Amino acid sequence: MNAKESLLNSLTEEMRAETLSLASMFSLTEQMELELVKNQADLMLFDMPSLADLINLNEILILDNGQRRNAFLSMMRKTMMEIEKSEIDYSSFPTYRAERGAISVIDDDSQLGFGRCPCPIDGEKTRCCKLTTLDVITQCAFSCSYCSVQAFYDRMRIKAVSNLREKLDALDIDDSVWHIGTGQASDSLFLGDDHGTLSDLAYFSEKHPNIMIELKSKAYRTDVFKRKYPRNMVFTWSLNAPTVIEKEERGTASLIKRLECAAAARDNGSLVGFHIHPMVHFKGWEDEYSALAREIEKRFSPGDILMISSGTLIFTKENLRFIREKGVKTRVLQMEKTLTAGKYSYPFEIRKEMFSHLFSSFSKDFISQIFTYLCLEDPALWLPVLGREYSSDKQFESDMRRSYFEKINSV
Ligand code: SF4
Repeated sequence: MNAKESLLNSLTEEMRAETLSLASMFSLTEQMELELVKNQADLMLFDMPSLADLINLNEILILDNGQRRNAFLSMMRKTMMEIEKSEIDYSSFPTYRAERGAISVIDDDSQLGFGRCPCPIDGEKTRCCKLTTLDVITQCAFSCSYCSVQAFYDRMRIKAVSNLREKLDALDIDDSVWHIGTGQASDSLFLGDDHGTLSDLAYFSEKHPNIMIELKSKAYRTDVFKRKYPRNMVFTWSLNAPTVIEKEERGTASLIKRLECAAAARDNGSLVGFHIHPMVHFKGWEDEYSALAREIEKRFSPGDILMISSGTLIFTKENLRFIREKGVKTRVLQMEKTLTAGKYSYPFEIRKEMFSHLFSSFSKDFISQIFTYLCLEDPALWLPVLGREYSSDKQFESDMRRSYFEKINSV
């Protein structure tokens, strides 16, 4: 099935009929029809009226036959651009519940190997920390609308690597492996330690004091902090504005619950970190992201926190296609999609404004004692946003490594 057919299938019956009728009415070419279907799919995801309701078709139908097609295309593009350029208004967007069937957890007896973070390979178009990834759990039971993890694995089964300790012992480790992230293919805490994953990672961290293991989560699992972990096993949470959590990160813990869970990790002697990611440009974003920064500062001291990073919505063509075909209501695609380093994101100036606002919402004294960075972002954003920059990925990686181990070894 080609892209157009799959997208047509994701539309409601009524919208599909309307789309086909518009394509035939204005004699659209295959390419134009694909554009029309994508726009209709986006409007359906945004929970907005369809193009036939948004465009005054009578204004087009009074024109000469030869002018109608171009008039329709230009009205469609103008309408979509106006929607995409406006800030997302979540006040008119219902709160949808996460809809997944029963998800089972099974043992994964396949081999374990390292992967790499999804930055473009050494293109220097983004500043990359060269994170090594380790997929000890694959698939996620949460339903963040912008996430494509579900596209890569069996939707209804979470896999936890079996005999993890032996497999960790068998890994081929050289000096390039110093920072391992386990939250790229799943949520690191969703299963807690139910399958012994955290205990095995703690064993590995203890055995390799020069390697730092980073877990990343949106969950509330304070039960995992009944045992101690080595300092080089760091617990991080993805945080977002409460409105984005409520509308787009379905099934996940609330902001306050995530922060409470992070406080439980801290109280248990672990270092914590925060990824304020993906920032979304919605009506009210300034106040909510400022409040989020204040909330972190109120609950933690700089010595508790290893890092704070940020990033925004970034989509590949495949991500866009997956989200549209999934058909789950979301407004994250309501953005002016600017091509940057081969992926689609907000225009540079919007990203600069959002990140600058976020980091300046922390007090200078607080944030200056924490390692900060921008994830998957244009290197030109670093200096205006963070007040520092690196001339290469290597320099960034080595500064991160120095800073992380200074804090890890500070007790
Ligand atoms: S918690 Fe992470 S892995 Fe799970 S759906 Fe959300 S973004 Fe994807």
